[in-house]
Amino acid sequence: MNELLRKSATEQGLAIKNKEISATELTKAAYERIAEIEDKLGAFNSLTKEIALETAKKVDEKIAKGEELPLLAGVPLALKDNMNLKGSKTTASSKILENFVSPFNATITEKLLNNLVPIVGKANLDEFAMGSSNENSAFKKVHNPWDLKKVPGGSSGGSAASVASCEAALALGSDTGGSIRLPASFCGIVGMKPTYGRVSRYGLIAFASSLDQIGPFGRTVEDTANLLEVISGHDPKDSTSLNLPVEHYAESLNNDIKGMKVGVIKELMTDALSPDVAKAIEKAIEDYKKLGCEIVEISLPNLKHSIGIYYILATAECSSNLARFDGVKYGYRTHDAKNLLEMYTKTRAEGFGPEVKRRIMLGTYALSSGYYDAYYKKAQQMRALVTQDFAEAFKKADVLISPTCPNTAFELGAKASDPLAMYLTDIATISANLAGIPGLSVPAGFDRDGMPIGLQVLAPQLQEARLFNAAHKFERANDYYLQIANL
Ligand code: GLN
Repeated sequence: MNELLRKSATEQGLAIKNKEISATELTKAAYERIAEIEDKLGAFNSLTKEIALETAKKVDEKIAKGEELPLLAGVPLALKDNMNLKGSKTTASSKILENFVSPFNATITEKLLNNLVPIVGKANLDEFAMGSSNENSAFKKVHNPWDLKKVPGGSSGGSAASVASCEAALALGSDTGGSIRLPASFCGIVGMKPTYGRVSRYGLIAFASSLDQIGPFGRTVEDTANLLEVISGHDPKDSTSLNLPVEHYAESLNNDIKGMKVGVIKELMTDALSPDVAKAIEKAIEDYKKLGCEIVEISLPNLKHSIGIYYILATAECSSNLARFDGVKYGYRTHDAKNLLEMYTKTRAEGFGPEVKRRIMLGTYALSSGYYDAYYKKAQQMRALVTQDFAEAFKKADVLISPTCPNTAFELGAKASDPLAMYLTDIATISANLAGIPGLSVPAGFDRDGMPIGLQVLAPQLQEARLFNAAHKFERANDYYLQIANL
């Protein structure tokens, strides 16, 4: 592997500007790395070599002319395969979209292309982003670069595995209940979910629209801060996107955090944690103390309801969002239907995988007349309580910390036949989506088997700069971030 691929995205961008390597050479080096390991890893559904090399060429032409370049120009990025890139397949890892070619670019894709970021391929995911292990992909499994027998986490498993294994320096994922933070934690990299509305979702295949948010992956906090700056901002095409200026997050990364109040979420520091995860989080608390922070204990009394609330709201919303896949407008259509109704039902029965069907059925049930008040309305009310818990917590603390997940990556197949066990892996991440607050996972050590552990950091809405600052200081107090899976 070209040694430069091991460097952070920010360093790779500088190397291009300093003419240590051309963008074309770097992009080709990424494809060599992909060719070397992709058979074992399964991180990509498809590669977009022509588009990536065209972007790289533009970077090199600008360099030759001595023109200014955006910070991440020429740095290879993996795009989760539920985001549209014109002219490439966008499958959401579903059979129903297996042959769907995007006729347009998502807003984030436009922003990446304007910033001359070569998009090397479309990253594998759980079908329609529903899952925590990436085993729900209709096409193939993704393996964890630290141990190929283990899952990379989901649903953005391909995005995280590609960055952890140096196939790409950066990736984008989507996070509805933890799908960026969980795989970042399992793969030993940084993954960040912004405030709801910070990033436009135009061109993202919707799962649960009141929870979905697009966010960055990188091997350092600085890389994710720089990538968030590229993709965030108001978009008239997404009515939920916030009309606020884009911030230069990297500027505040090194601010002193002495005196910052770091809240430890009591409900997530229980016996349910694996002992190695508990030890790593205790160590993180000590690190924050050494950085001069004040540690406060925080209680989120309604956190225990978050998985229940989520699986009512997310399934209700997905049952509505996925109604559009009917065999008429686009995507797969059954080959033998006798009439229109049969065409709809067979198309959906043949096109969707088991987890997606389970969610559509749960959601349809929760929304049906007679049950709406008992389930959907109740869940909405409970969601407000979770949001209130955070509002109270942030009166006492500037940021909150917890493990990203109670355990490290598990073996492929270990939870595949037990949906409830799978749902429980998101206990620490889901509540941030319910409250719309930003959160990230940053490497916090390794367990006895050498598998990465993630520390989750949460901040109030729109306090991304504070979040990055607190996470960066912790990252630089250790050298976990410098360790790369030996694959
Ligand atoms: N694991 C959760 C689910 O299956 C979250 C997924 C996500 O954030 N997209 O719904």
